Amino acid sequence: MPAEILDGVQIANEIKAEVAAEVKQLTSAGLRPGLAAVLIGNDPGSEVYVRSKVKACDTLGLFSEQIIRPDLRSTTELLGIVQDLNRRDEIDGILVQLPLPKEIDTRRILLAVDPAKDVDGFHPFNVGSLAANHPTLVACTPLGVMEILRRSDIPVEGREAVVVGRSDIVGKPVAMLLTNANATVTVCHSRTRNLAEVCRRADILVAAIGRAAMITPEFVKPGATVIDVGINRVEDAAFVQALFGSDGRRQADLAKKGSTLVGDVHPRVAEFAGAMTPVPGGVGPLTIAMLMSNTVKAAKARRGKEHGVATVR
Ligand code: NDP
Repeated sequence: MPAEILDGVQIANEIKAEVAAEVKQLTSAGLRPGLAAVLIGNDPGSEVYVRSKVKACDTLGLFSEQIIRPDLRSTTELLGIVQDLNRRDEIDGILVQLPLPKEIDTRRILLAVDPAKDVDGFHPFNVGSLAANHPTLVACTPLGVMEILRRSDIPVEGREAVVVGRSDIVGKPVAMLLTNANATVTVCHSRTRNLAEVCRRADILVAAIGRAAMITPEFVKPGATVIDVGINRVEDAAFVQALFGSDGRRQADLAKKGSTLVGDVHPRVAEFAGAMTPVPGGVGPLTIAMLMSNTVKAAKARRGKEHGVATVR
Protein backbone atom coordinates (compact mmCIF):
# COMPACT_ATOMS: atom_id res chain seq x y z
CA MET A 1 0.00 0.00 0.00
CA PRO A 2 1.47 3.42 -0.87
CA ALA A 3 2.44 5.74 1.98
CA GLU A 4 -0.01 8.19 3.45
CA ILE A 5 1.12 11.60 2.22
CA LEU A 6 1.36 14.06 5.12
CA ASP A 7 0.06 17.34 3.76
CA GLY A 8 2.27 20.13 5.13
CA VAL A 9 0.25 22.86 3.43
CA GLN A 10 -2.92 21.80 5.20
CA ILE A 11 -1.19 21.47 8.59
CA ALA A 12 0.49 24.87 8.14
CA ASN A 13 -2.89 26.40 7.28
CA GLU A 14 -4.40 24.95 10.47
CA ILE A 15 -1.60 26.45 12.55
CA LYS A 16 -1.86 29.81 10.77
CA ALA A 17 -5.61 29.92 11.41
CA GLU A 18 -4.96 29.28 15.12
CA VAL A 19 -2.26 31.95 15.19
CA ALA A 20 -4.53 34.48 13.41
CA ALA A 21 -7.30 33.87 15.96
CA GLU A 22 -4.86 34.34 18.82
CA VAL A 23 -3.35 37.48 17.29
CA LYS A 24 -6.86 38.93 17.01
CA GLN A 25 -7.52 38.24 20.68
CA LEU A 26 -4.15 39.62 21.78
CA THR A 27 -4.51 42.71 19.62
CA SER A 28 -7.87 43.46 21.19
CA ALA A 29 -6.14 43.20 24.59
CA GLY A 30 -3.65 45.83 23.34
CA LEU A 31 -0.86 43.38 22.56
CA ARG A 32 -0.16 43.11 18.85
CA PRO A 33 2.78 40.76 18.26
CA GLY A 34 5.49 42.27 16.08
CA LEU A 35 8.28 40.79 13.96
CA ALA A 36 11.29 42.59 12.50
CA ALA A 37 12.99 40.94 9.51
CA VAL A 38 16.53 42.04 8.76
CA LEU A 39 17.80 41.43 5.23
CA ILE A 40 21.43 42.25 4.47
CA GLY A 41 23.12 41.74 1.11
CA ASN A 42 21.36 40.69 -2.07
CA ASP A 43 20.85 36.97 -2.01
CA PRO A 44 17.77 36.41 -4.23
CA GLY A 45 16.64 33.37 -2.19
CA SER A 46 16.77 35.41 1.03
CA GLU A 47 14.72 38.19 -0.54
CA VAL A 48 11.99 35.68 -1.42
CA TYR A 49 12.03 34.20 2.10
CA VAL A 50 11.82 37.58 3.82
CA ARG A 51 9.01 38.68 1.54
CA SER A 52 6.99 35.56 2.31
CA LYS A 53 7.56 35.96 6.07
CA VAL A 54 6.41 39.57 6.01
CA LYS A 55 3.40 38.61 3.88
CA ALA A 56 2.47 35.92 6.43
CA CYS A 57 2.60 38.58 9.20
CA ASP A 58 0.22 40.79 7.20
CA THR A 59 -2.18 37.93 6.52
CA LEU A 60 -2.28 36.80 10.16
CA GLY A 61 -2.49 40.31 11.63
CA LEU A 62 0.97 40.60 13.17
CA PHE A 63 2.89 43.87 13.01
CA SER A 64 5.97 43.55 10.82
CA GLU A 65 8.89 45.67 9.82
CA GLN A 66 11.56 45.02 7.22
CA ILE A 67 15.06 46.37 7.48
CA ILE A 68 16.63 45.95 4.06
CA ARG A 69 20.27 47.00 3.65
CA PRO A 70 21.73 45.44 0.48
CA ASP A 71 25.07 47.27 0.83
CA LEU A 72 25.73 46.88 4.55
CA ARG A 73 28.96 44.94 5.21
CA SER A 74 29.90 46.06 8.74
CA THR A 75 29.39 43.77 11.73
CA THR A 76 29.42 46.80 14.07
CA GLU A 77 26.71 48.56 12.12
CA LEU A 78 24.53 45.45 12.02
CA LEU A 79 25.09 44.95 15.76
CA GLY A 80 23.73 48.48 16.21
CA ILE A 81 20.59 47.59 14.22
CA VAL A 82 20.03 44.43 16.27
CA GLN A 83 20.55 46.28 19.56
CA ASP A 84 18.05 48.91 18.50
CA LEU A 85 15.49 46.18 17.77
CA ASN A 86 16.29 44.56 21.14
CA ARG A 87 15.33 47.84 22.84
CA ARG A 88 12.07 48.46 20.98
CA ASP A 89 9.15 47.14 23.01
CA GLU A 90 6.74 46.65 20.09
CA ILE A 91 9.20 44.25 18.41
CA ASP A 92 8.72 40.75 19.85
CA GLY A 93 10.66 38.76 17.28
CA ILE A 94 13.90 39.52 15.47
CA LEU A 95 14.78 37.53 12.41
CA VAL A 96 18.17 38.04 10.83
CA GLN A 97 17.91 36.31 7.47
CA LEU A 98 20.85 33.96 6.78
CA PRO A 99 23.22 33.66 5.07
CA LEU A 100 24.78 37.03 5.88
CA PRO A 101 27.46 38.41 3.52
CA LYS A 102 30.84 36.83 4.25
CA GLU A 103 32.31 40.10 5.59
CA ILE A 104 29.89 39.96 8.54
CA ASP A 105 30.52 37.87 11.65
CA THR A 106 27.31 35.82 11.73
CA ARG A 107 28.06 34.28 15.13
CA ARG A 108 28.41 37.69 16.81
CA ILE A 109 25.19 38.89 15.22
CA LEU A 110 23.17 35.85 16.32
CA LEU A 111 24.62 36.16 19.84
CA ALA A 112 23.51 39.80 19.98
CA VAL A 113 19.81 39.00 19.45
CA ASP A 114 17.92 39.17 22.76
CA PRO A 115 17.11 35.47 23.53
CA ALA A 116 13.56 36.57 24.43
CA LYS A 117 13.14 37.85 20.85
CA ASP A 118 15.06 35.04 19.15
CA VAL A 119 12.13 33.63 17.15
CA ASP A 120 14.52 31.58 14.98
CA GLY A 121 15.71 29.75 18.11
CA PHE A 122 19.38 30.06 17.11
CA HIS A 123 20.73 31.79 20.24
CA PRO A 124 22.85 29.49 22.45
CA PHE A 125 20.63 30.37 25.42
CA ASN A 126 17.61 28.92 23.61
CA VAL A 127 19.59 25.99 22.23
CA GLY A 128 20.71 25.23 25.81
CA SER A 129 17.14 25.48 27.08
CA LEU A 130 16.04 22.98 24.45
CA ALA A 131 18.86 20.63 25.45
CA ALA A 132 17.77 20.93 29.09
CA ASN A 133 14.15 20.29 28.06
CA HIS A 134 12.80 23.59 29.27
CA PRO A 135 12.47 25.18 25.87
CA THR A 136 11.52 28.77 25.31
CA LEU A 137 11.96 29.55 21.63
CA VAL A 138 12.87 26.61 19.38
CA ALA A 139 14.03 26.67 15.74
CA CYS A 140 11.09 26.78 13.35
CA THR A 141 11.79 23.91 10.92
CA PRO A 142 12.43 21.37 13.72
CA LEU A 143 9.25 22.57 15.48
CA GLY A 144 7.44 22.08 12.17
CA VAL A 145 8.63 18.47 11.99
CA MET A 146 7.16 17.82 15.46
CA GLU A 147 3.87 19.51 14.55
CA ILE A 148 3.51 17.29 11.47
CA LEU A 149 4.00 14.20 13.64
CA ARG A 150 1.66 15.45 16.38
CA ARG A 151 -1.13 16.62 14.12
CA SER A 152 -0.92 13.44 12.02
CA ASP A 153 -1.32 11.31 15.19
CA ILE A 154 2.03 9.61 14.67
CA PRO A 155 3.21 8.36 18.05
CA VAL A 156 6.75 9.32 19.07
CA GLU A 157 7.16 8.07 22.63
CA GLY A 158 9.20 4.88 22.90
CA ARG A 159 9.78 4.64 19.17
CA GLU A 160 13.06 4.45 17.29
CA ALA A 161 13.82 7.72 15.51
CA VAL A 162 16.78 8.22 13.19
CA VAL A 163 17.78 11.74 12.13
CA VAL A 164 20.15 12.01 9.17
CA GLY A 165 21.92 15.40 9.47
CA ARG A 166 23.39 17.15 12.51
CA SER A 167 23.25 20.82 11.57
CA ASP A 168 22.57 23.42 14.25
CA ILE A 169 19.43 24.61 12.46
CA VAL A 170 17.77 21.29 11.64
CA GLY A 171 19.37 17.96 12.57
CA LYS A 172 20.47 18.67 16.16
CA PRO A 173 17.32 20.48 17.31
CA VAL A 174 15.07 17.84 15.68
CA ALA A 175 17.03 15.17 17.55
CA MET A 176 16.64 17.07 20.83
CA LEU A 177 12.89 17.57 20.31
CA LEU A 178 12.43 13.88 19.53
CA THR A 179 14.48 12.96 22.62
CA ASN A 180 12.39 15.31 24.76
CA ALA A 181 9.30 13.61 23.32
CA ASN A 182 10.68 10.26 24.57
CA ALA A 183 11.77 8.72 21.28
CA THR A 184 14.98 6.67 21.19
CA VAL A 185 17.06 8.80 18.88
CA THR A 186 20.06 8.09 16.66
CA VAL A 187 21.76 10.99 14.88
CA CYS A 188 23.60 10.20 11.64
CA HIS A 189 25.94 12.31 9.49
CA SER A 190 28.49 12.05 6.71
CA ARG A 191 30.83 9.84 8.78
CA THR A 192 28.16 7.36 9.88
CA ARG A 193 29.00 3.82 8.86
CA ASN A 194 26.34 1.52 7.36
CA LEU A 195 23.92 4.42 7.06
CA ALA A 196 21.19 2.45 5.28
CA GLU A 197 21.29 -0.23 7.95
CA VAL A 198 21.04 2.32 10.77
CA CYS A 199 18.16 4.10 8.99
CA ARG A 200 16.27 0.84 8.57
CA ARG A 201 15.90 0.69 12.36
CA ALA A 202 13.76 3.81 12.32
CA ASP A 203 10.06 3.94 13.01
CA ILE A 204 10.49 7.64 12.31
CA LEU A 205 13.16 8.65 9.81
CA VAL A 206 14.00 12.35 9.42
CA ALA A 207 16.17 13.30 6.44
CA ALA A 208 17.88 16.70 6.72
CA ILE A 209 20.89 16.22 4.48
CA GLY A 210 20.68 18.42 1.40
CA ARG A 211 21.24 15.63 -1.16
CA ALA A 212 18.50 15.06 -3.68
CA ALA A 213 16.79 11.67 -3.41
CA MET A 214 19.62 10.14 -1.37
CA ILE A 215 17.27 8.18 0.90
CA THR A 216 16.24 5.27 -1.32
CA PRO A 217 13.95 2.37 -0.33
CA GLU A 218 16.88 0.36 1.08
CA PHE A 219 17.12 2.96 3.89
CA VAL A 220 13.52 2.54 4.96
CA LYS A 221 11.82 -0.02 7.17
CA PRO A 222 8.47 -0.92 5.57
CA GLY A 223 5.73 1.08 7.26
CA ALA A 224 8.05 3.73 8.75
CA THR A 225 7.16 7.41 8.86
CA VAL A 226 9.58 9.39 6.69
CA ILE A 227 9.93 13.14 7.17
CA ASP A 228 11.81 14.82 4.32
CA VAL A 229 13.30 18.17 5.33
CA GLY A 230 15.57 18.46 2.27
CA ILE A 231 15.01 21.12 -0.35
CA ASN A 232 17.24 20.61 -3.38
CA ARG A 233 16.93 22.51 -6.63
CA VAL A 234 17.48 20.02 -9.46
CA GLU A 235 18.08 21.19 -13.02
CA ASP A 236 19.20 17.94 -14.64
CA ALA A 237 16.29 16.83 -16.84
CA ALA A 238 17.55 13.24 -17.08
CA PHE A 239 17.74 12.98 -13.26
CA VAL A 240 14.22 14.42 -12.90
CA GLN A 241 12.98 11.94 -15.50
CA ALA A 242 14.67 9.07 -13.63
CA LEU A 243 13.05 10.16 -10.35
CA PHE A 244 9.56 11.07 -11.45
CA GLY A 245 9.12 9.39 -14.85
CA SER A 246 6.67 11.25 -17.00
CA ASP A 247 5.00 13.11 -14.05
CA GLY A 248 3.45 16.05 -15.90
CA ARG A 249 3.77 18.53 -13.03
CA ARG A 250 7.51 17.94 -12.69
CA GLN A 251 8.06 18.27 -16.42
CA ALA A 252 6.01 21.49 -16.45
CA ASP A 253 7.97 22.86 -13.45
CA LEU A 254 11.26 22.08 -15.15
CA ALA A 255 10.15 23.63 -18.45
CA LYS A 256 8.86 26.79 -16.73
CA LYS A 257 11.56 27.44 -14.09
CA GLY A 258 14.50 25.45 -15.40
CA SER A 259 14.55 23.46 -12.13
CA THR A 260 12.34 21.55 -9.75
CA LEU A 261 12.50 21.11 -5.96
CA VAL A 262 13.41 17.62 -4.83
CA GLY A 263 13.66 16.34 -1.27
CA ASP A 264 16.34 14.14 0.27
CA VAL A 265 14.01 11.17 -0.03
CA HIS A 266 13.65 9.22 -3.26
CA PRO A 267 10.05 9.19 -4.58
CA ARG A 268 10.08 5.36 -4.67
CA VAL A 269 10.16 5.37 -0.85
CA ALA A 270 6.41 6.13 -1.05
CA GLU A 271 5.92 2.48 -2.06
CA PHE A 272 7.35 1.25 1.25
CA ALA A 273 6.86 3.92 3.92
CA GLY A 274 3.74 4.06 6.07
CA ALA A 275 3.58 7.84 5.84
CA MET A 276 5.79 10.48 4.30
CA THR A 277 6.02 14.20 3.65
CA PRO A 278 6.20 15.41 0.05
CA VAL A 279 8.62 18.01 -1.34
CA PRO A 280 7.41 20.61 -2.01
CA GLY A 281 4.41 20.87 0.31
CA GLY A 282 5.72 18.95 3.32
CA VAL A 283 7.97 20.45 6.00
CA GLY A 284 8.64 23.67 4.04
CA PRO A 285 5.28 25.38 4.68
CA LEU A 286 5.53 24.63 8.41
CA THR A 287 8.64 26.77 8.82
CA ILE A 288 6.81 30.06 8.29
CA ALA A 289 3.79 28.91 10.30
CA MET A 290 6.07 28.14 13.25
CA LEU A 291 7.84 31.48 12.89
CA MET A 292 4.48 33.19 13.28
CA SER A 293 3.63 30.96 16.22
CA ASN A 294 7.02 31.69 17.84
CA THR A 295 6.46 35.45 17.46
CA VAL A 296 3.13 35.19 19.26
CA LYS A 297 4.76 33.06 21.94
CA ALA A 298 7.55 35.61 22.39
CA ALA A 299 5.03 38.47 22.58
CA LYS A 300 3.04 36.72 25.28
CA ALA A 301 6.14 35.77 27.27
CA ARG A 302 7.56 39.31 27.15
CA ARG A 303 4.47 41.48 27.36
CA GLY A 304 1.59 39.18 28.27
CA LYS A 305 1.54 39.96 31.97
CA GLU A 306 1.15 43.70 31.53
CA HIS A 307 -1.83 43.06 29.22
CA GLY A 308 -3.43 40.47 31.45
CA VAL A 309 -2.71 37.64 29.01
CA ALA A 310 -1.65 34.12 30.05
CA THR A 311 1.98 33.57 29.11
CA VAL A 312 2.11 29.77 28.97
CA ARG A 313 1.09 28.09 25.71
P1 NDP B 1 23.71 21.28 6.37
O1 NDP B 1 24.47 21.21 5.09
O2 NDP B 1 24.05 22.29 7.38
O3 NDP B 1 23.79 19.83 7.07
C1 NDP B 1 23.68 18.66 6.33
C2 NDP B 1 23.89 17.47 7.23
O4 NDP B 1 23.77 16.30 6.43
C3 NDP B 1 25.27 17.44 7.88
O5 NDP B 1 25.16 17.06 9.22
C4 NDP B 1 26.03 16.40 7.06
O6 NDP B 1 26.98 15.66 7.80
C5 NDP B 1 24.90 15.47 6.63
N1 NDP B 1 25.27 14.77 5.40
C6 NDP B 1 25.70 15.32 4.24
N2 NDP B 1 25.96 14.36 3.34
C7 NDP B 1 25.69 13.19 3.94
C8 NDP B 1 25.78 11.84 3.54
N3 NDP B 1 26.19 11.49 2.31
N4 NDP B 1 25.43 10.89 4.43
C9 NDP B 1 25.02 11.21 5.67
N5 NDP B 1 24.91 12.49 6.11
C10 NDP B 1 25.25 13.45 5.26
O7 NDP B 1 22.19 21.38 5.92
P2 NDP B 1 20.90 21.90 6.75
O8 NDP B 1 20.72 21.08 7.97
O9 NDP B 1 20.92 23.36 6.84
O10 NDP B 1 19.74 21.52 5.70
C11 NDP B 1 19.49 20.19 5.31
C12 NDP B 1 18.46 20.20 4.21
O11 NDP B 1 17.23 20.76 4.72
C13 NDP B 1 18.82 21.08 3.00
O12 NDP B 1 18.30 20.48 1.83
C14 NDP B 1 18.09 22.38 3.27
O13 NDP B 1 17.78 23.07 2.08
C15 NDP B 1 16.84 21.87 3.93
N6 NDP B 1 16.19 22.84 4.82
C16 NDP B 1 14.84 22.95 4.71
C17 NDP B 1 14.15 23.83 5.50
C18 NDP B 1 12.67 23.89 5.37
O14 NDP B 1 12.08 24.90 5.67
N7 NDP B 1 12.02 22.82 4.95
C19 NDP B 1 14.84 24.71 6.45
C20 NDP B 1 16.25 24.45 6.56
C21 NDP B 1 16.90 23.56 5.74
P3 NDP B 1 28.31 16.34 8.45
O15 NDP B 1 27.83 17.07 9.65
O16 NDP B 1 29.17 15.17 8.78
O17 NDP B 1 28.89 17.24 7.39
